[in-house]
Amino acid sequence: MLFQLSIMNKEFKRYTVTAALPYANGPVHIGHLAGVYLPADIYVRYLRSSGQDVKFVCGSDEHGVPITIRAQKEGITPQQVVDKYHEIIKHSFQEFQISFDIYSRTSNQTHRETASGFFTNLYEKGVFEEKTSQQYYDEKSQQFLADRYIVGTCPRCGNENAYGDQCENCGTSLNATDLINPKSMLSGEKPVMRETKHWYLPLDQYEGWLRAWIIDGHQDWKTNVYGQCKSWIDGGLQPRAVTRDLDWGVPVPLPEAKGKVLYVWFDAPIGYISATKDLTSEWEKYWKDEDTKLVHFIGKDNIVFHCIIFPVMLRAHGDYIVPENVPANEFLNLEGDKISTSRNWAVWLHEYLADFPGKGDVLRYVLCANAPETKDNDFTWKDYQARNNNELLAIFGNFINRAVVLTHKYFGGKVPGKNELQTVDVMVLDELKAFPGIIGDLIERYRFREALSELMNLARLGNKYLADTEPWKLVKTDIDRVSTILNISLQIAASLSIVAEPFLPDTARKLADMLCIQPDTWAAAGGQDYMIARNDIGEAALLFQKVEDETVQAQVQKLLDTKKANQLANATVTPAKENISFEDFSKMDIRVGTILEAEKVAKTKKLLKLKIDTGIDQRTIVSGIAEHFVPEAIIGQQVSVLVNLAPREIKGIESQGMILMAENADGSLSFVQPSAQVKNGSGIS
Ligand SMILES: [Zn+2]
Repeated sequence: MLFQLSIMNKEFKRYTVTAALPYANGPVHIGHLAGVYLPADIYVRYLRSSGQDVKFVCGSDEHGVPITIRAQKEGITPQQVVDKYHEIIKHSFQEFQISFDIYSRTSNQTHRETASGFFTNLYEKGVFEEKTSQQYYDEKSQQFLADRYIVGTCPRCGNENAYGDQCENCGTSLNATDLINPKSMLSGEKPVMRETKHWYLPLDQYEGWLRAWIIDGHQDWKTNVYGQCKSWIDGGLQPRAVTRDLDWGVPVPLPEAKGKVLYVWFDAPIGYISATKDLTSEWEKYWKDEDTKLVHFIGKDNIVFHCIIFPVMLRAHGDYIVPENVPANEFLNLEGDKISTSRNWAVWLHEYLADFPGKGDVLRYVLCANAPETKDNDFTWKDYQARNNNELLAIFGNFINRAVVLTHKYFGGKVPGKNELQTVDVMVLDELKAFPGIIGDLIERYRFREALSELMNLARLGNKYLADTEPWKLVKTDIDRVSTILNISLQIAASLSIVAEPFLPDTARKLADMLCIQPDTWAAAGGQDYMIARNDIGEAALLFQKVEDETVQAQVQKLLDTKKANQLANATVTPAKENISFEDFSKMDIRVGTILEAEKVAKTKKLLKLKIDTGIDQRTIVSGIAEHFVPEAIIGQQVSVLVNLAPREIKGIESQGMILMAENADGSLSFVQPSAQVKNGSGIS
């Protein structure tokens, strides 16, 4: 027990904090930010503010099959794919103030050498198992095929475009050998089986160590992380191949391994080490010293790689420390649906910033307040608006504004002095003093939502203090009292500028500027003499602006449009009807006519009563198109009319024929019209 306690409370000399390497085949979205980069950034900013020695490393993950497939589809090289997305991703992180010490990439030389050297080290220690296996080979393009490079019919649902690793129609995960009629995506040919050799990391041999380290030693980890690790270990670990037959990646540094690269999941986490090497010549103490606390921020889909595979690699190498914690988050959904890059169901960070310039902090706030820390959570634009208007603006912004405006109004913009304290003042100052410790403690325990809510409670304390003491009522009678009240209010505001910094870095800077103070360390927060009497403060500036209904409505509409576009793209076309003879067809008399009059049929939703000049006559036709057209707008349009359809009565009106319509997958209708004006009565055949 004592032993465990001392481990838990171990004092570390420095921190290495990593955030999952984003995959460089697309931009980053709110799910990435909420799940990984924002909590990591809050943690690191807090550590820096507390005077800790910390290195915050990340970079683009640029290897792996999806990148080569994307390159092939776009007709460019894999390097061009990763160059493009590396820049987009890096820029988004900068704009959202994710304060990496370095944002590197795995296609650079340092990484190639580091990953290669790591493999060689394990190889020379005899860690790997060598195994041959049968794998699909494309004889025409002369290469082994990764599972993603094989398409065929899903044995489960019959989808003809299932991939060798998964059917995206029914979601079943597959082996390439499960596919019926497999085809190579490179040549379209049927692949053949061929023998290939690979190197395997024997995870099974590390089971005892993993049990002691995680199951017994890290019951402090988040429940979701601990639970997943336990189920992996209890399920029985298997040796895992760390090499692949592929031409994009870090080449396997063995003469007999021509045409093979390191598996992307072997090379990617080593990217944290190479990034640190690129950052500092003292990189070793951040990776090899037991007094360094290593923390990996990741999403839940990466737990096995960061808690089992990478630690086994580090352990097998022997020179490295293993992570002290892996605070993985669950997933963020968007408006009730899973975020999806391929379906474009996402709020992309670069698009958000184009639509909401200068409002990075608002999104940081909303995503942290709603972070998927213990379960999947949902982002909605309505919640975004509510949190901005009712919390940031109405609580935080309002308090700062009142404190600063009143200081200008009553004291000419100079910090007033504190006079004799009343009970309420002492209580408020005591509470103020406690806040930085409470918030910091929650951050250290990776409870960022609660930490943020305590930050807002500090702003609430300020608001309540002003509401209770009502300085605006005392100003005529007791200016000394008002002086004390505003002094204390400004002390709260100053502390807010420090404790808000990890969460809302832009806002914290603006606030410090407004109060004419230098950004200070965490230790200074909570102090009651931080703002010095008679110093000037700046004019009140608005920290937040109201988000209007139209603004969020436009964002919701953008998503609805995406949904519609997806439906259209995925809509299946109904199969052709049975053949008919030419005689059958020629029985139909279809003519061009012009709409002369149009009006809604009373007491119906769908029906329009139309008067049509068919060239033969002028006749009435009732058509079920009222939900798609405004009557006045279609007058004068030429349409196709089936004129020899037997008349029938609809809602008491005799309808003499039928207008031909094309129906889109979403149910919307358009007229089948001649592409140029033609004489009414012209036949269509
Ligand atoms: Zn399927």
